[in-house]
Amino acid sequence: MRIANLTGRAVLLADARALDVERASGGRFGADPQSVWNDWAAFRAWAGSIDPAAHPDSAAFDPVDLGAPVPRPSQVFGVGLNYADHAAESKMELPEHPLVFTKFPSSLTGPAVTVRLSGDRVDWEAELVAVIGRGGRDIRQSNGWDAVAGLTVGQDLSDRTVQSWGKPAQFNLGKSFPGYAPTGPAVVTLDEVRAAADPDALGITCRIADAEGGVFRTLQDGTSRDMIFKVPRLVAELSAIVELLPGDLIFTGTPSGVGMGRDPQIFLTPGQCMVTEIEALGTIEQRFVA
Ligand code: ZN
Repeated sequence: MRIANLTGRAVLLADARALDVERASGGRFGADPQSVWNDWAAFRAWAGSIDPAAHPDSAAFDPVDLGAPVPRPSQVFGVGLNYADHAAESKMELPEHPLVFTKFPSSLTGPAVTVRLSGDRVDWEAELVAVIGRGGRDIRQSNGWDAVAGLTVGQDLSDRTVQSWGKPAQFNLGKSFPGYAPTGPAVVTLDEVRAAADPDALGITCRIADAEGGVFRTLQDGTSRDMIFKVPRLVAELSAIVELLPGDLIFTGTPSGVGMGRDPQIFLTPGQCMVTEIEALGTIEQRFVA
């Protein structure tokens, strides 16, 4: 199933149609997209029992009305240097443990938004985002996928100037400007991902055009197979320290091809359009303004 946020209401998506969760469930589940995650097991059981595409109340929708599928997570984890080729282009050593930072939740937005650039060194990072379902503490790596409700597409937009303020550098603020955490278009549950692809080896691309209607260049073209710390390991390492809560997000790191790692370096400029795509999950699209 695909769980999304349409004009602030929880919906199920199928075949380009949306089914309103509150109405279709007769009020058993609320309209707030965040509430889905608080009652995940019951929600999954109910949603798995209906066919949103064939439901008489499902309706066509405009994708620009989609918001962040998880709008107010308790915790947002970011993982730095989680792909060897990206660590190399960043001229950093491979970490022994996941290098974790946060994107403050106020930076979250939906899949189709315009983002105001905070400076002239703002970079892209296409990322697979894991959404926690059941959560808990001390989750074993072998059970790591069981803690995950589904996956979505994310961008870890990063102001490299602010990110490298101070010694040691601190990542959180430079990655938390308004709109710097676009996600969506939906959370795709693991069973649906597995029906289409291997969740441990999903293709991840980022394409950028210099203007609307312009020619897209592919700047990142990787696969989650190349992650150093894969999703079950991240769940184990994080939950050994903090309790993972339903609806928490884990931005799992980016493959190579970011602007900072290029020679010469390139960064986002006003007027550009960016499409981030992950196999079996869909695309998110951003426009940038000064
Ligand atoms: Zn990142």
